[in-house]
Amino acid sequence: MIVSIKKGTDEAQISNLIEWLRSLNLEIHRSNGMYDTVLGLVGDTSRVDIDLISGLNIVANVARISEPYKSANRKFHPDDTVIDVGGHKIGGGNFQFIAGPCSVESPEQICSIANDIKAAGANLLRGGAFKPRTSPYAFQGMRAEGLELLREARKATGAPIVTEIMDLSHLPLFEDVDVIQVGARNMQNFELLKELGKTDKPILLKRGLAATMEELLMSAEYIMAGGNSKVMLCERGIRTFEHYTRNTMDISAIALLKEKTHLPIIADPSHAAGIARMVRPLALAAVAAGADGLMIEVHNDPAHALCDGPQALRPEEFKQIVGEVNAIREIINKF
Ligand code: PEP
Ligand code: MN
Repeated sequence: MIVSIKKGTDEAQISNLIEWLRSLNLEIHRSNGMYDTVLGLVGDTSRVDIDLISGLNIVANVARISEPYKSANRKFHPDDTVIDVGGHKIGGGNFQFIAGPCSVESPEQICSIANDIKAAGANLLRGGAFKPRTSPYAFQGMRAEGLELLREARKATGAPIVTEIMDLSHLPLFEDVDVIQVGARNMQNFELLKELGKTDKPILLKRGLAATMEELLMSAEYIMAGGNSKVMLCERGIRTFEHYTRNTMDISAIALLKEKTHLPIIADPSHAAGIARMVRPLALAAVAAGADGLMIEVHNDPAHALCDGPQALRPEEFKQIVGEVNAIREIINKF
């Protein structure tokens, strides 16, 4: 971190600042230029409050050189993290499909879809039991009963389950869930992230609707700082000025996050587009950009789905995408 001191600042104030920064366990390299005094801060600056320093009236400017996230940073962990979910590996060249309905709706619905997605080539079953809906009048999910149906579908198919937690108080209900999803709306629910950091569950952390990549990485850092390093990041589209699609799939985030972090990156083309026929092209693009997995919404009767029907694929459409994705991965792996 570089701190530039305002011209004309008296020496006593600079010394006070240096002393305080040293008390934060930082080494300070001072350089006195013809016009400016510049302090180079060396050490773990992740705990330094940049806004606090910028706000001091003797400081002209503060620039970060290293990223504020450490555990999630590839610089300190060059090797890809590989996460094992019930024997299915994700990351480090291992790819997984996570598929299933937006919401669990009935025992027949979830079991039939679970069988279909497994037969199509997905190893992990997704399904929302607690649903974050914009309207309080919309279907809110089957809640604890939905979790029970997911367990039954897992028992019937062997597919580990991925489902969203919306509130800290529900954590005990998620004890035997295989992957806990943190939805876009909760990406910065820091108390929830801290609690998930104390568990040893794989966490699927979705990017917030208007979150930068750094904010997403900082949210991962919250979980990892608590001791849980099994975090997967999910690009699910961000909100832009565009309104022909539900969100805008940020393909560049997939490629860039792969550079910045060793954590697996999952792409969710269903929520990104909000349109079923866009899922295929976005899925293929995400895989070509380096995604370690895809999460795709699949429904046996999209027209009557209780949530997100317009973006749901029928099982046979999903199966076709699995074949195409595998073909793309084979090509990529040759290079
Ligand atoms: C979901 O996966 O069903 C979901 C609600 O996703 P997001 O948090 O990305 O909107
Ligand atoms: Mn959905």
